[in-house]
Amino acid sequence: MKVMKFGGTSVGKPERMHQVKDLVTRGDEPTIVVLSALSGTTNALVGIGEALAEANRILAKERIDALHAHYLEFYPALLKTEKGRAKAEDIIKEHFEFLNIILKISFNEAINRDILAQGELLSTKLFYTLLEELNIPAVFLGALDFMSIDENSEPELSKISEKLKAILAQHPGEKLFVTQGYICKNHRNEVDNLKRGGSDYTASLIAAAINASVCEIWTDIDGMHNNDPRIVDKTRPIAELSFDEAAELAYFGAKILHPASIWPAQQYNVPVRLLNTMDPEAHGTLIKEDVETTGVKAIAAKDGITAIKIKSSRMLLAYGFLRRVFEIFEKYKTPIDMITTSEVAVSVTIDDLSHLAQIQKELEALGSVEVDQNQTIICIVGNMVSETRGAIKSVMDSINNIPIRMVSYGGSRHNVSILIDSKFKKDALQSLNEGVFNW
Ligand code: ASP
Ligand code: MG
Repeated sequence: MKVMKFGGTSVGKPERMHQVKDLVTRGDEPTIVVLSALSGTTNALVGIGEALAEANRILAKERIDALHAHYLEFYPALLKTEKGRAKAEDIIKEHFEFLNIILKISFNEAINRDILAQGELLSTKLFYTLLEELNIPAVFLGALDFMSIDENSEPELSKISEKLKAILAQHPGEKLFVTQGYICKNHRNEVDNLKRGGSDYTASLIAAAINASVCEIWTDIDGMHNNDPRIVDKTRPIAELSFDEAAELAYFGAKILHPASIWPAQQYNVPVRLLNTMDPEAHGTLIKEDVETTGVKAIAAKDGITAIKIKSSRMLLAYGFLRRVFEIFEKYKTPIDMITTSEVAVSVTIDDLSHLAQIQKELEALGSVEVDQNQTIICIVGNMVSETRGAIKSVMDSINNIPIRMVSYGGSRHNVSILIDSKFKKDALQSLNEGVFNW
Protein backbone atom coordinates (compact mmCIF):
# COMPACT_ATOMS: atom_id res chain seq x y z
CA MET A 1 0.00 0.00 0.00
CA LYS A 2 1.16 3.53 -0.63
CA VAL A 3 0.31 7.01 0.57
CA MET A 4 -0.15 9.98 -1.77
CA LYS A 5 -0.53 13.40 -0.19
CA PHE A 6 -1.61 16.46 -2.17
CA GLY A 7 -1.07 19.99 -0.90
CA GLY A 8 -3.37 23.00 -1.11
CA THR A 9 -2.29 24.17 -4.56
CA SER A 10 -2.67 20.63 -5.95
CA VAL A 11 -6.36 20.67 -5.02
CA GLY A 12 -6.91 24.44 -5.12
CA LYS A 13 -8.54 24.60 -8.55
CA PRO A 14 -11.22 22.31 -10.03
CA GLU A 15 -8.92 21.30 -12.92
CA ARG A 16 -6.13 20.48 -10.48
CA MET A 17 -8.45 18.24 -8.52
CA HIS A 18 -9.16 16.43 -11.77
CA GLN A 19 -5.43 15.98 -12.24
CA VAL A 20 -5.18 14.54 -8.73
CA LYS A 21 -7.91 12.10 -9.66
CA ASP A 22 -5.83 11.01 -12.68
CA LEU A 23 -2.70 10.60 -10.59
CA VAL A 24 -4.29 8.51 -7.84
CA THR A 25 -5.99 6.15 -10.27
CA ARG A 26 -3.10 5.39 -12.60
CA GLY A 27 -1.30 2.70 -10.58
CA ASP A 28 -2.37 -0.70 -9.31
CA GLU A 29 -1.16 -0.43 -5.77
CA PRO A 30 -3.79 0.24 -3.09
CA THR A 31 -3.46 3.89 -2.12
CA ILE A 32 -4.42 6.15 0.75
CA VAL A 33 -4.88 9.68 -0.55
CA VAL A 34 -4.31 12.45 1.97
CA LEU A 35 -5.57 15.91 1.03
CA SER A 36 -4.89 19.38 2.37
CA ALA A 37 -7.52 22.08 2.30
CA LEU A 38 -7.88 24.07 -0.94
CA SER A 39 -5.14 26.71 -1.04
CA GLY A 40 -6.14 29.80 0.91
CA THR A 41 -8.83 28.04 2.92
CA THR A 42 -6.88 27.42 6.12
CA ASN A 43 -5.63 31.01 6.09
CA ALA A 44 -9.24 32.17 5.67
CA LEU A 45 -10.36 29.94 8.56
CA VAL A 46 -7.57 31.34 10.73
CA GLY A 47 -8.89 34.81 9.84
CA ILE A 48 -12.43 33.84 10.86
CA GLY A 49 -11.14 32.52 14.19
CA GLU A 50 -9.15 35.71 14.77
CA ALA A 51 -12.16 37.90 14.11
CA LEU A 52 -14.23 35.84 16.55
CA ALA A 53 -11.47 35.92 19.16
CA GLU A 54 -11.73 39.72 19.00
CA ALA A 55 -15.51 39.39 19.24
CA ASN A 56 -15.79 41.04 15.84
CA ARG A 57 -18.76 39.09 14.52
CA ILE A 58 -19.34 41.41 11.59
CA LEU A 59 -15.84 40.82 10.26
CA ALA A 60 -16.11 37.08 10.96
CA LYS A 61 -19.37 36.96 9.02
CA GLU A 62 -17.80 38.83 6.10
CA ARG A 63 -14.95 36.36 6.04
CA ILE A 64 -17.27 33.35 6.22
CA ASP A 65 -19.32 34.74 3.34
CA ALA A 66 -16.24 35.37 1.21
CA LEU A 67 -15.02 31.81 1.74
CA HIS A 68 -18.50 30.46 1.09
CA ALA A 69 -18.61 32.33 -2.23
CA HIS A 70 -15.32 30.73 -3.20
CA TYR A 71 -16.74 27.23 -2.70
CA LEU A 72 -19.96 28.09 -4.51
CA GLU A 73 -17.84 29.04 -7.47
CA PHE A 74 -15.56 26.01 -7.14
CA TYR A 75 -17.96 23.08 -7.25
CA PRO A 76 -19.82 23.69 -10.54
CA ALA A 77 -16.47 23.63 -12.35
CA LEU A 78 -15.47 20.45 -10.50
CA LEU A 79 -18.63 18.42 -11.02
CA LYS A 80 -20.68 17.96 -14.17
CA THR A 81 -23.73 15.91 -13.18
CA GLU A 82 -26.79 17.20 -11.41
CA LYS A 83 -26.42 14.49 -8.80
CA GLY A 84 -22.78 15.35 -8.12
CA ARG A 85 -23.57 19.06 -7.91
CA ALA A 86 -26.49 18.49 -5.58
CA LYS A 87 -24.24 16.48 -3.31
CA ALA A 88 -21.56 19.19 -3.34
CA GLU A 89 -24.21 21.80 -2.50
CA ASP A 90 -25.23 19.75 0.52
CA ILE A 91 -21.64 19.38 1.68
CA ILE A 92 -20.92 23.08 1.34
CA LYS A 93 -24.20 23.96 3.00
CA GLU A 94 -23.47 21.70 5.96
CA HIS A 95 -20.01 23.17 6.62
CA PHE A 96 -21.00 26.80 6.16
CA GLU A 97 -24.07 26.35 8.32
CA PHE A 98 -21.73 25.07 10.98
CA LEU A 99 -19.54 28.18 10.64
CA ASN A 100 -22.59 30.42 10.81
CA ILE A 101 -23.80 28.70 13.97
CA ILE A 102 -20.43 29.32 15.58
CA LEU A 103 -21.01 33.02 15.02
CA LYS A 104 -23.84 32.85 17.48
CA ILE A 105 -22.21 30.90 20.29
CA SER A 106 -19.44 31.92 22.65
CA PHE A 107 -16.03 31.41 21.18
CA ASN A 108 -13.20 29.38 22.69
CA GLU A 109 -10.02 27.61 21.62
CA ALA A 110 -11.72 24.24 21.08
CA ILE A 111 -14.23 25.88 18.75
CA ASN A 112 -11.39 27.59 16.94
CA ARG A 113 -9.85 24.20 16.20
CA ASP A 114 -13.22 23.01 14.92
CA ILE A 115 -13.23 25.98 12.57
CA LEU A 116 -9.72 25.13 11.33
CA ALA A 117 -10.80 21.55 10.58
CA GLN A 118 -13.42 22.61 8.03
CA GLY A 119 -10.92 23.06 5.18
CA GLU A 120 -9.73 19.46 4.99
CA LEU A 121 -13.25 18.13 5.56
CA LEU A 122 -14.49 20.18 2.61
CA SER A 123 -11.64 19.28 0.25
CA THR A 124 -11.86 15.53 0.89
CA LYS A 125 -15.65 15.42 0.65
CA LEU A 126 -15.63 17.36 -2.62
CA PHE A 127 -12.89 15.14 -4.02
CA TYR A 128 -14.76 12.04 -2.95
CA THR A 129 -17.86 13.37 -4.70
CA LEU A 130 -15.81 13.74 -7.87
CA LEU A 131 -14.71 10.11 -7.63
CA GLU A 132 -18.33 9.03 -7.11
CA GLU A 133 -19.47 11.04 -10.09
CA LEU A 134 -16.90 9.27 -12.24
CA ASN A 135 -17.80 5.87 -10.79
CA ILE A 136 -14.31 5.39 -9.39
CA PRO A 137 -14.60 3.07 -6.40
CA ALA A 138 -13.15 4.60 -3.25
CA VAL A 139 -13.58 4.59 0.52
CA PHE A 140 -13.91 7.81 2.53
CA LEU A 141 -11.87 7.63 5.74
CA GLY A 142 -12.49 10.19 8.46
CA ALA A 143 -9.12 11.13 9.91
CA LEU A 144 -10.87 11.99 13.18
CA ASP A 145 -11.61 8.27 13.55
CA PHE A 146 -7.95 7.28 13.76
CA MET A 147 -5.55 10.27 13.97
CA SER A 148 -4.85 11.26 17.55
CA ILE A 149 -2.42 13.28 19.63
CA ASP A 150 -1.59 12.97 23.32
CA GLU A 151 -1.60 15.67 26.00
CA ASN A 152 1.75 16.98 24.72
CA SER A 153 0.29 17.26 21.21
CA GLU A 154 2.46 14.35 20.08
CA PRO A 155 0.90 11.89 17.62
CA GLU A 156 0.07 8.51 19.15
CA LEU A 157 1.57 6.40 16.40
CA SER A 158 0.82 2.95 17.82
CA LYS A 159 -2.81 3.86 18.54
CA ILE A 160 -3.13 5.41 15.08
CA SER A 161 -1.72 2.26 13.53
CA GLU A 162 -4.04 -0.02 15.46
CA LYS A 163 -7.15 1.98 14.63
CA LEU A 164 -6.29 2.55 11.00
CA LYS A 165 -5.45 -1.09 10.37
CA ALA A 166 -8.77 -2.11 11.90
CA ILE A 167 -10.64 0.34 9.66
CA LEU A 168 -8.78 -0.82 6.55
CA ALA A 169 -9.53 -4.43 7.41
CA GLN A 170 -13.22 -3.61 7.06
CA HIS A 171 -12.65 -2.81 3.39
CA PRO A 172 -10.90 -5.81 1.86
CA GLY A 173 -10.17 -5.56 -1.84
CA GLU A 174 -10.63 -1.77 -1.94
CA LYS A 175 -7.88 0.11 -3.69
CA LEU A 176 -8.51 3.77 -3.09
CA PHE A 177 -8.98 5.52 0.24
CA VAL A 178 -9.40 9.25 0.77
CA THR A 179 -8.68 11.04 4.03
CA GLN A 180 -7.88 14.44 5.53
CA GLY A 181 -4.45 15.74 6.33
CA TYR A 182 -3.83 18.04 9.28
CA ILE A 183 -6.82 17.19 11.49
CA CYS A 184 -6.91 14.83 14.46
CA LYS A 185 -8.46 14.28 17.88
CA ASN A 186 -6.64 15.34 21.04
CA HIS A 187 -6.52 13.62 24.44
CA ARG A 188 -9.78 15.34 25.43
CA ASN A 189 -11.35 13.83 22.33
CA GLU A 190 -11.78 17.29 20.83
CA VAL A 191 -11.01 18.13 17.23
CA ASP A 192 -7.43 19.33 16.96
CA ASN A 193 -4.72 19.60 14.33
CA LEU A 194 -1.06 18.89 13.62
CA LYS A 195 -0.20 22.60 13.23
CA ARG A 196 0.12 24.57 10.01
CA GLY A 197 1.47 22.55 7.13
CA GLY A 198 0.62 19.41 9.10
CA SER A 199 -0.86 17.43 6.20
CA ASP A 200 2.63 16.19 5.34
CA TYR A 201 2.91 14.96 8.90
CA THR A 202 -0.42 13.12 8.55
CA ALA A 203 0.85 11.44 5.38
CA SER A 204 4.06 10.33 7.02
CA LEU A 205 2.26 9.08 10.14
CA ILE A 206 -0.16 7.07 8.00
CA ALA A 207 2.72 5.69 5.93
CA ALA A 208 4.45 4.59 9.13
CA ALA A 209 1.23 3.27 10.66
CA ILE A 210 0.55 0.91 7.76
CA ASN A 211 4.18 0.36 6.79
CA ALA A 212 3.54 1.77 3.34
CA SER A 213 5.84 1.07 0.39
CA VAL A 214 6.28 4.79 -0.20
CA CYS A 215 4.96 8.12 1.06
CA GLU A 216 4.51 10.46 -1.89
CA ILE A 217 4.20 14.17 -1.15
CA TRP A 218 2.80 15.96 -4.19
CA THR A 219 3.27 19.73 -4.34
CA ASP A 220 3.77 22.38 -6.99
CA ILE A 221 7.57 22.23 -7.17
CA ASP A 222 9.81 19.47 -8.50
CA GLY A 223 11.37 18.45 -5.20
CA MET A 224 13.69 20.03 -2.64
CA HIS A 225 16.09 22.41 -4.27
CA ASN A 226 19.76 22.77 -3.54
CA ASN A 227 19.35 26.44 -2.68
CA ASP A 228 16.51 28.89 -2.13
CA PRO A 229 14.92 29.49 -5.58
CA ARG A 230 13.33 32.71 -4.32
CA ILE A 231 16.75 34.22 -3.70
CA VAL A 232 19.25 32.49 -5.94
CA ASP A 233 18.79 32.39 -9.73
CA LYS A 234 20.20 28.99 -10.48
CA THR A 235 18.96 26.13 -8.35
CA ARG A 236 18.11 22.54 -9.15
CA PRO A 237 16.15 19.77 -7.47
CA ILE A 238 18.12 17.32 -5.33
CA ALA A 239 17.62 13.78 -6.62
CA GLU A 240 18.33 11.96 -3.41
CA LEU A 241 18.62 12.74 0.29
CA SER A 242 18.97 10.67 3.41
CA PHE A 243 16.35 11.11 6.13
CA ASP A 244 18.90 12.96 8.26
CA GLU A 245 19.81 15.36 5.48
CA ALA A 246 16.16 15.95 4.64
CA ALA A 247 15.33 16.62 8.28
CA GLU A 248 18.04 19.30 8.50
CA LEU A 249 16.84 20.90 5.28
CA ALA A 250 13.15 20.75 6.11
CA TYR A 251 13.83 22.38 9.43
CA PHE A 252 16.26 25.00 8.15
CA GLY A 253 14.28 26.58 5.41
CA ALA A 254 13.14 24.35 2.59
CA LYS A 255 9.44 25.09 3.03
CA ILE A 256 8.37 22.16 0.88
CA LEU A 257 8.12 19.58 3.65
CA HIS A 258 6.91 19.88 7.23
CA PRO A 259 10.00 19.12 9.36
CA ALA A 260 8.18 16.78 11.76
CA SER A 261 7.11 14.57 8.88
CA ILE A 262 10.55 12.99 8.56
CA TRP A 263 10.65 10.96 11.77
CA PRO A 264 7.68 8.60 11.28
CA ALA A 265 8.87 7.65 7.80
CA GLN A 266 12.42 7.29 9.04
CA GLN A 267 11.45 5.16 12.02
CA TYR A 268 9.56 2.71 9.82
CA ASN A 269 11.95 3.11 6.92
CA VAL A 270 9.30 4.21 4.45
CA PRO A 271 10.89 6.14 1.56
CA VAL A 272 9.43 9.61 0.98
CA ARG A 273 9.16 11.00 -2.52
CA LEU A 274 8.57 14.68 -3.20
CA LEU A 275 6.78 15.03 -6.52
CA ASN A 276 5.31 17.77 -8.66
CA THR A 277 1.62 17.70 -9.60
CA MET A 278 2.32 20.06 -12.52
CA ASP A 279 5.05 17.79 -13.86
CA PRO A 280 4.26 14.25 -12.69
CA GLU A 281 7.04 12.61 -14.70
CA ALA A 282 9.81 14.68 -13.11
CA HIS A 283 12.06 12.66 -10.77
CA GLY A 284 11.55 14.94 -7.78
CA THR A 285 13.43 14.17 -4.56
CA LEU A 286 13.70 10.72 -3.04
CA ILE A 287 14.34 10.61 0.70
CA LYS A 288 15.44 7.31 2.17
CA GLU A 289 17.70 5.75 4.76
CA ASP A 290 20.91 5.05 2.87
CA VAL A 291 22.11 7.23 0.09
CA GLU A 292 25.36 6.84 -1.75
CA THR A 293 25.84 10.41 -2.85
CA THR A 294 28.35 12.47 -0.86
CA GLY A 295 29.46 16.07 -0.57
CA VAL A 296 27.46 19.26 -0.17
CA LYS A 297 23.94 18.80 -1.47
CA ALA A 298 22.03 21.82 -0.40
CA ILE A 299 22.10 25.18 1.26
CA ALA A 300 19.17 26.55 3.20
CA ALA A 301 18.55 29.61 5.31
CA LYS A 302 16.36 30.21 8.31
CA ASP A 303 15.52 33.78 9.24
CA GLY A 304 14.14 35.28 12.38
CA ILE A 305 16.87 33.88 14.58
CA THR A 306 18.03 35.49 17.82
CA ALA A 307 21.48 34.79 19.21
CA ILE A 308 22.00 34.92 22.97
CA LYS A 309 25.48 35.00 24.49
CA ILE A 310 25.98 34.23 28.17
CA LYS A 311 29.41 35.16 29.42
CA SER A 312 30.66 34.22 32.83
CA SER A 313 34.02 33.59 34.39
CA ARG A 314 32.17 31.12 36.61
CA MET A 315 31.96 28.89 33.58
CA LEU A 316 35.74 28.51 33.66
CA LEU A 317 36.58 24.94 34.72
CA ALA A 318 33.08 24.55 36.16
CA TYR A 319 30.73 21.71 35.51
CA GLY A 320 26.96 21.99 35.41
CA PHE A 321 27.03 25.48 33.95
CA LEU A 322 25.49 24.45 30.65
CA ARG A 323 22.81 22.50 32.45
CA ARG A 324 21.78 25.63 34.34
CA VAL A 325 21.65 27.56 31.08
CA PHE A 326 19.59 24.91 29.31
CA GLU A 327 17.19 24.50 32.21
CA ILE A 328 16.09 28.08 31.75
CA PHE A 329 15.20 27.44 28.10
CA GLU A 330 13.47 24.23 29.06
CA LYS A 331 11.41 26.01 31.68
CA TYR A 332 10.07 28.35 28.99
CA LYS A 333 9.63 25.55 26.43
CA THR A 334 11.91 27.37 24.03
CA PRO A 335 13.89 25.17 21.65
CA ILE A 336 17.54 25.96 20.96
CA ASP A 337 18.82 25.57 17.39
CA MET A 338 22.56 26.23 17.47
CA ILE A 339 25.09 26.23 20.29
CA THR A 340 28.72 27.20 20.41
CA THR A 341 30.87 27.39 23.49
CA SER A 342 34.15 28.85 24.58
CA GLU A 343 35.71 28.43 28.00
CA VAL A 344 34.02 31.54 29.36
CA ALA A 345 30.96 31.99 27.20
CA VAL A 346 28.21 30.10 25.50
CA SER A 347 26.12 31.29 22.57
CA VAL A 348 22.81 29.76 21.61
CA THR A 349 20.17 30.63 19.05
CA ILE A 350 16.39 30.52 19.33
CA ASP A 351 13.56 31.43 16.99
CA ASP A 352 10.67 31.52 19.41
CA LEU A 353 10.79 34.89 21.13
CA SER A 354 7.62 34.55 23.20
CA HIS A 355 9.57 34.27 26.46
CA LEU A 356 12.73 36.16 25.54
CA ALA A 357 12.36 38.73 28.30
CA GLN A 358 11.93 36.14 31.06
CA ILE A 359 14.72 33.97 29.68
CA GLN A 360 17.06 36.93 29.51
CA LYS A 361 16.25 37.95 33.05
CA GLU A 362 16.94 34.48 34.43
CA LEU A 363 20.13 34.09 32.40
CA GLU A 364 21.44 37.33 33.89
CA ALA A 365 21.74 35.50 37.19
CA LEU A 366 24.39 33.30 35.53
CA GLY A 367 26.48 35.94 33.78
CA SER A 368 26.36 38.86 31.39
CA VAL A 369 23.89 38.40 28.58
CA GLU A 370 23.96 39.82 25.06
CA VAL A 371 21.07 39.43 22.63
CA ASP A 372 21.38 39.88 18.85
CA GLN A 373 18.19 39.79 16.84
CA ASN A 374 17.65 39.59 13.06
CA GLN A 375 20.08 36.77 12.53
CA THR A 376 19.95 34.05 9.88
CA ILE A 377 21.20 30.49 10.09
CA ILE A 378 22.78 29.33 6.86
CA CYS A 379 22.69 25.58 6.88
CA ILE A 380 24.93 23.56 4.59
CA VAL A 381 23.66 20.02 4.25
CA GLY A 382 25.19 16.98 2.70
CA ASN A 383 26.40 13.49 3.26
CA MET A 384 29.52 13.57 5.43
CA VAL A 385 29.96 17.26 4.89
CA SER A 386 32.16 17.36 7.94
CA GLU A 387 34.41 14.56 6.72
CA THR A 388 34.78 15.54 3.11
CA ARG A 389 38.21 17.09 2.73
CA GLY A 390 37.97 20.69 1.63
CA ALA A 391 34.18 20.91 1.97
CA ILE A 392 34.35 23.39 4.82
CA LYS A 393 37.12 25.31 3.06
CA SER A 394 34.99 25.91 -0.02
CA VAL A 395 32.15 26.99 2.25
CA MET A 396 34.28 29.45 4.18
CA ASP A 397 36.13 30.73 1.12
CA SER A 398 32.84 31.50 -0.61
CA ILE A 399 31.66 33.77 2.17
CA ASN A 400 34.97 35.20 3.38
CA ASN A 401 33.66 38.75 2.96
CA ILE A 402 30.69 38.17 5.28
CA PRO A 403 31.01 38.59 9.06
CA ILE A 404 30.16 35.33 10.83
CA ARG A 405 28.59 35.39 14.28
CA MET A 406 28.64 31.62 15.06
CA VAL A 407 29.71 28.38 13.38
CA SER A 408 28.51 24.94 14.29
CA TYR A 409 30.55 22.21 12.71
CA GLY A 410 30.72 18.51 13.53
CA GLY A 411 27.44 18.30 15.43
CA SER A 412 26.29 15.86 12.81
CA ARG A 413 27.83 14.37 9.70
CA HIS A 414 25.26 16.13 7.61
CA ASN A 415 25.38 19.72 8.58
CA VAL A 416 27.46 22.84 8.98
CA SER A 417 25.53 25.80 10.33
CA ILE A 418 26.66 29.39 10.11
CA LEU A 419 24.99 32.32 11.80
CA ILE A 420 25.09 35.70 10.10
CA ASP A 421 23.21 38.98 10.27
CA SER A 422 20.10 38.64 8.09
CA LYS A 423 21.17 41.59 5.96
CA PHE A 424 23.96 39.40 4.51
CA LYS A 425 21.72 36.44 3.72
CA LYS A 426 21.15 37.07 0.03
CA ASP A 427 24.81 37.69 -0.54
CA ALA A 428 25.75 34.55 1.41
CA LEU A 429 23.35 32.27 -0.46
CA GLN A 430 24.53 33.60 -3.80
CA SER A 431 28.22 33.37 -2.94
CA LEU A 432 27.79 29.83 -1.64
CA ASN A 433 25.95 28.85 -4.79
CA GLU A 434 28.90 30.04 -6.85
CA GLY A 435 31.61 28.78 -4.54
CA VAL A 436 30.24 25.41 -3.51
CA PHE A 437 28.23 24.35 -6.55
CA ASN A 438 30.49 26.26 -9.00
CA TRP A 439 27.58 28.21 -10.45
N1 ASP B 1 -4.37 23.10 5.51
C1 ASP B 1 -3.34 23.15 6.52
C2 ASP B 1 -2.52 24.38 6.35
O1 ASP B 1 -2.70 25.14 5.43
C3 ASP B 1 -2.50 21.93 6.56
C4 ASP B 1 -1.71 21.67 5.31
O2 ASP B 1 -2.07 22.14 4.25
O3 ASP B 1 -0.68 20.97 5.39
O4 ASP B 1 -1.66 24.64 7.16
MG1 MG C 1 2.50 22.11 2.84
